[in-house]
Amino acid sequence: MKVTYQWNQNETIELLKEIVEIPSPSGYTMDVIAKIRTLFEQWHVEYKTTHKGAVIATIQGENNQQHRLLTAHVDTLGAMVKEIKPSGRLKLSLVGGFKFNAIEGENCLIHKADGSTVSGTILLHQTTVHVYKDAGSAERNADNMEVRLDEKAFSPEQVRNLGIEVGDFVSFQPRFEATASGYIKSRHLDDKASTALLLQLVKHFSETQEKLPYTTHFYISNNEEIGYGGNSSIPEETQEYIAVDMGAIGDGQESDEYTVSICAKDSSGPYHYGLTRHLISLAKEQSIDYKVDIYPYYGSDASAAISAGHDVKHALFGPGIEASHSYERTHTDSLKAAAALLHAYVLSPLVS
Ligand SMILES: [Zn+2]
Repeated sequence: MKVTYQWNQNETIELLKEIVEIPSPSGYTMDVIAKIRTLFEQWHVEYKTTHKGAVIATIQGENNQQHRLLTAHVDTLGAMVKEIKPSGRLKLSLVGGFKFNAIEGENCLIHKADGSTVSGTILLHQTTVHVYKDAGSAERNADNMEVRLDEKAFSPEQVRNLGIEVGDFVSFQPRFEATASGYIKSRHLDDKASTALLLQLVKHFSETQEKLPYTTHFYISNNEEIGYGGNSSIPEETQEYIAVDMGAIGDGQESDEYTVSICAKDSSGPYHYGLTRHLISLAKEQSIDYKVDIYPYYGSDASAAISAGHDVKHALFGPGIEASHSYERTHTDSLKAAAALLHAYVLSPLVS
């Protein structure tokens, strides 16, 4: 039977906003994973939780001997309290690959041991231009970037009395915004945009009579930004492994905010040639706007799975994300193209 995929843009954007607003720096992803488990339960989808805290939903296909797997990650960049300064301000240790410039001026939450939070703002120590000559020129680094807490706490003792300790996680305010012109601006679109697309696809297969040709696993991983997300608990029958993750935009890049990016190669090396060609053919056949690209400083959960020793064909595609690991942006055109390629792929034959 033929069921066409009615990708629901508004529902995807709402779901994206909802998961973006649940803080989930790598290492502190319990709340967002709990939300995803609730969704799988609502949709009556079989799933398992790994010891590392990821969730893998499985939908049985007509062929249950040969499987395929798609993954997206819900962990994001973040930080940890490194030190409480004599002034009561906090030094940070960054979680994930980014620079302090990307979070300067951003509001944040300190996640205390009791689960409650204290708010603050990440600033250069010498931000005030009326006082400091080098406010503009100072290199932003771990020594001069600090958190200004929104509490009357001006000594380490007063900060500790608030319940803040070294090792507490710090999350950044995502500032999610969807514009009338179709842009979505937010932190953490990497990779929650892909996660929302994967979840919508799971929902589609749970609600419709459309059958998957092969048993398919939807792996929501929670340690990608630190290099070891979906590299374990891969079912043995898995032959193809797709990381659904952001396309990298910039000078010399093919990727943009209006197409789906298919990655031919990143820092880990080339992706599987046959599987990548298969994705390109599907995009061509179904008139999906796509770009093929190379990402210079990039690794994915698919390459992490290969490095961990899994014998799978691996590939990578996803929406194009502008200003990645900073205040990111994409367009609904890109989400739509990625959603279409996801649907086309899960219905396609395995690459021989
Ligand atoms: Zn990512």
